[in-house]
Amino acid sequence: MAEGIDCDVPPVGTVLMAAGQRYVLIATSPLQWQSHCPTCGAPLVAKTALRAAAIKRRCLLHHRKGVPVTGRRHVTAKGTT
Ligand SMILES: [Zn+2]
Repeated sequence: MAEGIDCDVPPVGTVLMAAGQRYVLIATSPLQWQSHCPTCGAPLVAKTALRAAAIKRRCLLHHRKGVPVTGRRHVTAKGTT
C-alpha cells in the first residue's frame, strides 16, 4: 500500500551483528532477520520494527519468555501484587 516511505530500510542481505550474533536481512516490511539459535544452532527468523531495541536471539525451544537478551528494555509486568 504505502510506497516510498521506507527511506531508512536497509537492503536485503544486510548483515547485522548484535551481541556477537550474526543476522542477515532476508525481508523487509517488517524487517526479518535470518539467524541461528546460539544454543542449538537451529535457524530462526527474527522480525523487528525498523528501530528495534532488541532482537530475538534464540529459537522457539530456547526462547526465554520475559528474559531480554539484548538491551535493557523491560516488558511491562502484569499482575504484580
Ligand atoms: Zn535453540
